[in-house]
Amino acid sequence: MYLKAHPSLDEIERENLCSVMDSLKLSYTAYTAHLPVPEQAPPAPGRAQLALLGLAETPLRQVDEPKTERRKSDEEAAEHATCEAPTVEHSAWEALPSAIACFGQIIARAQAKRILLFLDYDGTLARIVKDPLEAFITPEMRQTVGAAAEMFSTSIVTGRDVPKAIDFVKLDNLNYAGSHGLDIKICGEENHYQPFPYLEPLVSKATACLEQALQGIDGIFVENNKFCVSVHFRNVDEKDWDLVETTVRTVLRDFPDLRLDSGKMVWEFRSKEVFTKGDAVEYLFKYLLELLQTDRSRVLAIHIGDDKTDEDAFKMLREKDYGFGILVTKEPKPSQALYSLEDPSEVMVFLQKLVAWREEEDGIVELH
Ligand SMILES: [Mg+2]
Repeated sequence: MYLKAHPSLDEIERENLCSVMDSLKLSYTAYTAHLPVPEQAPPAPGRAQLALLGLAETPLRQVDEPKTERRKSDEEAAEHATCEAPTVEHSAWEALPSAIACFGQIIARAQAKRILLFLDYDGTLARIVKDPLEAFITPEMRQTVGAAAEMFSTSIVTGRDVPKAIDFVKLDNLNYAGSHGLDIKICGEENHYQPFPYLEPLVSKATACLEQALQGIDGIFVENNKFCVSVHFRNVDEKDWDLVETTVRTVLRDFPDLRLDSGKMVWEFRSKEVFTKGDAVEYLFKYLLELLQTDRSRVLAIHIGDDKTDEDAFKMLREKDYGFGILVTKEPKPSQALYSLEDPSEVMVFLQKLVAWREEEDGIVELH
């Protein structure tokens, strides 16, 4: 898995390794067969909507133009993390190198392409906190994401519902994919894309049942995310964790159309229909391609996230060759991502570097 994640392997080496090492790949074809697609072609975009989406027609550098020199800070960072091919003695971190240390490698991938950014919220833009309703982003992060969205079409892809995500982020030049992608609001458009609308009343009913069944447990928080319901037990005494799980599983029996999933200190009731963050990112990717009226070879998607639900997006980007993932983690772990960042503060630095790079690129174009 670490070998697979390493960016220095060429595609053939990766595929050879993947075919041996990644059994998950076998199930991917099955679920993409059921991937919902846009029911109708999006309307031709106006310049105002393109500008709002960070897709304004700005000239791009050609591949054969002189490359921009790597910044000194990249060189300094690279002293602490290498991007060399992995060997048995390399550590797990070296197989999932820092996106900051390898920034030069990343912008080399982005040459002559438009970048589409996909950002998870909790643990990626905002630190994980005890009360999920207080997972605010800092003003600096908001400013950084806003600046990034002016240059690159940017989408928030989160387990939170869309109104909650908008309320946290407070930026209107973004796309929002809430409820793990089951509710997608494109910037500047009224209608949402909701592949399974029948889930909303089902989730409301499940939320009420869970609240009633779990009401005696101190610290429990049941969150209705419109198309999925989350049971947060971060603040529950550890001696009650088994009780939480047993209760949640008991309630689930009354909802045969829902399945149980788990995240960081959270149980979730989600649709049995297969629609993941990977499907949401793929939907947005294709939608934005239509808006741009360009082909996929001119676009690079980058998804940044910290949870196992983000792995679906990382995996989709790798397998479709749409781009790559960046895992936010303090611990080295197997991942479908190509790079890593330690925490939201590093995510902010990475986004700032991306904005500064594009500003520099645009400046170079204007001089020609
Ligand atoms: Mg997260």
